Amino acid sequence: MILVSYQLSAVSCQLSAVSCQHRAPNAERPAPSADIKEVIDLFDSVPFLPDDIVRLATWVAEYYACGIGEAIAAAMPPRAWVESERHAAITEQGHARMLTERGLRREVLERLADGPARAASLTGSSRGGHAALLALERDALVTLTKPLKGSASAFRSVRVASITAQGLEESSVRLGERQREALELLKSAPDGIETAQLAERGISAQSLSSLARLGLIGLSRRRIDRDPFEQAVTMPEPRPEPLQLTADQHHALRDLSSLRARGGFQSALLHGVTGSGKTELYLRLAAQVREEGKGVLLLVPEIALTPAVAGAFRRTFGSGVAIQHSGLSDGERHDQWHRIRSGDVKVVVGTRSAVFAPVQSLGLIIVDEEHDGSYKQEESPRYNGRDVAVMRARQAGALVVLGSATPSMESYQNALTGRYTLVTLHKRVLDRPLAAVQIVDMRAEYAAAGPDVVLSAALVEALRARLAEREQAIVLLNRRGFATAVFCRQCAATLECPNCSITLTVHRAAKRARCHYCNYSMGLPKVCANCAGPYLEQIGFGTERIEAEIQATFPEARVARVDRDTVRKRGAIAALLARFGAGEIDILVGTQMIAKGHDFPRVTLVGVISADVGLGLADFRAAERTFQLLTQVAGRAGRGEIQGQAVVQTLYPDHYSIRHACRQDYRAFFDEEIRFRQAMRYPPSVALVNVVIKGRTLQAAMQDCGEIVRALRWGGEPYRVLGPATAPLSRLKGEHRAQFFIKGTHRPAMREALQKVLETRPEIRRRTIVDVDPMSVL
Ligand code: ADP
Ligand code: ZN
Repeated sequence: MILVSYQLSAVSCQLSAVSCQHRAPNAERPAPSADIKEVIDLFDSVPFLPDDIVRLATWVAEYYACGIGEAIAAAMPPRAWVESERHAAITEQGHARMLTERGLRREVLERLADGPARAASLTGSSRGGHAALLALERDALVTLTKPLKGSASAFRSVRVASITAQGLEESSVRLGERQREALELLKSAPDGIETAQLAERGISAQSLSSLARLGLIGLSRRRIDRDPFEQAVTMPEPRPEPLQLTADQHHALRDLSSLRARGGFQSALLHGVTGSGKTELYLRLAAQVREEGKGVLLLVPEIALTPAVAGAFRRTFGSGVAIQHSGLSDGERHDQWHRIRSGDVKVVVGTRSAVFAPVQSLGLIIVDEEHDGSYKQEESPRYNGRDVAVMRARQAGALVVLGSATPSMESYQNALTGRYTLVTLHKRVLDRPLAAVQIVDMRAEYAAAGPDVVLSAALVEALRARLAEREQAIVLLNRRGFATAVFCRQCAATLECPNCSITLTVHRAAKRARCHYCNYSMGLPKVCANCAGPYLEQIGFGTERIEAEIQATFPEARVARVDRDTVRKRGAIAALLARFGAGEIDILVGTQMIAKGHDFPRVTLVGVISADVGLGLADFRAAERTFQLLTQVAGRAGRGEIQGQAVVQTLYPDHYSIRHACRQDYRAFFDEEIRFRQAMRYPPSVALVNVVIKGRTLQAAMQDCGEIVRALRWGGEPYRVLGPATAPLSRLKGEHRAQFFIKGTHRPAMREALQKVLETRPEIRRRTIVDVDPMSVL
């Protein structure tokens, strides 16, 4: 709690620091109310966050109905938090009066008699303790102070030793051998030498400080930047000559450049099929913008999964680009942030949170794979980096380009209604055909080969043929683990998570059953916990099982797996993908991680196991997500000289998302899906807010939910409220969950009504998740 309130006070400092020196960024912002904390101190003479980022964060707070503190926190670089802690000390009078006091007051005084202490350690989180402490201060028995800890920036500095004028002349023999050695080294290094380097040569800190005492050398601290570039993104081979753009690319670039030339805020959706060469367009556009001296921001879903795009930017812009990826340490990220803030770096490539990077005079924002779910932050502030990017471009008067082979329903709708300019790449580069897709109806397969079959005959044949040609294959199953459940044949019980309403997944290598939501795990039981019978059976299958099946079928093949279980460690995914790229792996099995924008020219076959995995979910985006995943993964095949092939196994060969994905027909999918969304009143035909209320029991959660819903329905409301209902994930991490939706066309009205109602029930509000424009409603 203490941390939070001080973070807020740091924020109010921040805000007041901004408004002291500039005009308030948002004139409509209400006057500070009584619950804004006092400014404790000012850290910087220049506002830490630039105006435009504060303005953007303010918009985020408003749009996503979260606190301004949370939004500002999302925009801050790591290590920028300053905390203050209350410290207490006993006074003379306190000592004198100690024995006449009783209860809590006496306890506090007795503890302080041993020496000053942090207030939190004295009172814990109890209200009574806090009040007692304040009362003691009033009575002058204790003093309270609030020293500040940390600093708003955290550059790394190193200790450097350098020679002094006196040292240059020194040739005395009274020095020790090490000291003389140090002096000789420093004489030949006018810029000084880091003490750490001297230590490696056996010159200790003590020797140095005695030299310093003699006035022969000086010791100082020097600020250094942690340069993360070397180990960041694997550097691609330099390209010998610039590519000749295809006709499609040429037209698209012309359209995008002319948009930019119009000046001011412009937005475009670049819809280009997989392998149509979108990256090249991003690069050329970025180069044009750089020539004008303006800044460029490129957002990607996950850098480790798409190193090619980041690498291409590195190759073109050299050290003028900052690449923000999850492998960076906080310190590296911090230094990068300051290089961007100071204007040294004008091109930034990064994931979701990079949308807040303080790039100066921004001219272009590109959001690659704009449909990707990882742009949405699934914790407060629940913002979508893509939508924040559009708002940022609007505020900055810049061009924003959203790129995808499978645009989100929202973005394509915006393109059709003219809010975004639609730019299309219809064909793959060099007229390479899209993969030929074969659908395998698994019902027929089960009838022929029994219910245990996992790999269809067609897929096994295709894998065999590609292996024989020494080509590579990707096999997708969007479900990790070995088996999806443990089932008792005697009493029909399944092994469930004690904290969540979810069955446990079997992980064979780890010999454990694990919950994919809260990470609870247990050893695999031998008998049923319910009936004690020994008839436990593992049902369903995940990537671990597929890997095992493929390896058993092709013992000579080099098979590897990419999912969250195999790439826990930093850098593991990049290493695996690099090995695959280098041809050291024949078949790569994995979850949606392998479906993203990779470009592996030697992959000629893509297999999809259970294409319908996601369709069973009670989520309005289920079909959209399935279409995107299948289209994207099929798009990994045939990106080189040889035509690609995809084999898609499913129980629902007639489902429209699977049919259209197999034909790579985006428009047909969109037209069918938009009818469903309109009929069911789901986004993008309406705006949606998903509200989840957590409670100790389901009944309590439902009751609270019911109260909020009733308050929202006053008769004339310009929106519809649906619910309350038990959430599809009715229990998660030990909490029960009830849910309702607000649907409407006027977002501000929906948001304001909800906030007003929640304000009257602060106790419920604390247990409420408000998700504006949810990615998933589970
Ligand atoms: P997308 O992101 O649209 O799926 P990429 O940008 O990954 O496609 O491009 C696919 C491949 O085509 C890459 O290997 C890229 O180097 C290559 N490429 C792009 N443009 C051209 C071009 N004009 N001529 C030849 N190859 C190209
Ligand atoms: Zn769980």
